[in-house]
Amino acid sequence: MQTGTISVQTENIFPIIKKFLYSDHEIFLRELVSNAVDATTKLQVLANRGDVKGEIGDTTIEVILEEAEKRLIIRDKGIGMTEEEVLKYLNQIAFSSAAEFLEKNKDSAIIGHFGLGFYSAFMVADRVEVVTKSWQKGAKAVRWSCEGSPEFSMEEVKKAGRGTDIILYINEENKDFLENTA
Ligand code: ADP
Repeated sequence: MQTGTISVQTENIFPIIKKFLYSDHEIFLRELVSNAVDATTKLQVLANRGDVKGEIGDTTIEVILEEAEKRLIIRDKGIGMTEEEVLKYLNQIAFSSAAEFLEKNKDSAIIGHFGLGFYSAFMVADRVEVVTKSWQKGAKAVRWSCEGSPEFSMEEVKKAGRGTDIILYINEENKDFLENTA
């Protein structure tokens, strides 16, 4: 198990995310589904180029509601991420672009209409886990976990197939997102 601190200039952007984006909480779903679509498209591009060997199989993206566990899961079977990629893309890029985005837009009344990327998950979740396995041969699956502060943990886990599960532990104020209204 590895633990660390996400390096970011802003002391703690999570309260800012929650405060400034309160008006439009459902954007988190659009952001995360759009990341899942991107990851799936990237896999298809690699497959068309012949980089991914064999059939890529079913690439359906699922949104799973686990009301009793208060979990909402966005599951894709796209390219996934290696441990290094999680550190780079989630800790460095996603975190710093979220901080930069908020800095630029904090006075804007229409902030909720713009995308914030992965970190918008913390508008509705107390804890976010990412369980991911890269498409690359021999890749090991990892679980990254973060409870809405710059501290995160990461450990190796077992995961059957390629792709990413974004697991949101939905907070009390947003529990409506756990209801299946379909
Ligand atoms: P953006 O999507 O605008 O690049 P995000 O903050 O949403 O910014 O995500 C940062 C990066 O994390 C993405 O560019 C991508 O490399 C990686 N990422 C996020 N979600 C996934 C996913 N479901 N599968 C693979 N990579 C992902």
